[in-house]
Amino acid sequence: MASETCNKCGEALDTTGYPLWCLKCRAKDKRDRDANNKERRESQCWAQGVAAMREYLAQQFSSYGTQGSFSGIEIARVIAHCRGPE
Ligand SMILES: [Zn+2]
Repeated sequence: MASETCNKCGEALDTTGYPLWCLKCRAKDKRDRDANNKERRESQCWAQGVAAMREYLAQQFSSYGTQGSFSGIEIARVIAHCRGPE
C-alpha cells in the first residue's frame, strides 16, 4: 500500500482522519481561519460603531429642533466635542 500524502502540500501525511492534510497544513489552515474570523468580527464591530454614532449624532442635532442653523465649522465643532454613544 502506497503511503498517503497531504492533499495540500504533497508531503507525507502525518495525521489520520479528514481532511487529508499534514499537521503543518492543518495548523496553517487554522491560523488563516482564525485571522479571517478576527477580521470579520472587527468589521462587524466597526459597522455597529458607525451605526451607533450616526444615530447618536442624528439625535444630537434633532434635539436642536428647528431653531438651529449651523455653519459647517460649527457642525464640525459639535461633532468633535460630543461624547458619542454609550
Ligand atoms: Zn501539507
